[in-house]
Amino acid sequence: MPAINIPEKCLHCGACVGVCPKQAIVLEGEKIKIDKKKCIECKACVLMCPVGAMQIKR
Ligand code: SF4
Ligand code: SF4
Repeated sequence: MPAINIPEKCLHCGACVGVCPKQAIVLEGEKIKIDKKKCIECKACVLMCPVGAMQIKR
């Protein structure tokens, strides 16, 4: 499951939201929310994040 493991790095740029094939990521104000039920762990969001704020957490 990806998660914002380094929240202070997140720029709220929305890149991860746009890249998610399952629309599992929503930007709510300054918070990224990931719908665990929708996520297929493709890691696209992790690769897309320009600052490496998103990481896979097990
Ligand atoms: S790992 Fe893939 S499916 Fe899961 S939130 Fe990231 S982009 Fe979406
Ligand atoms: S791509 Fe990275 S910096 Fe941009 S909103 Fe997502 S987690 Fe934050």
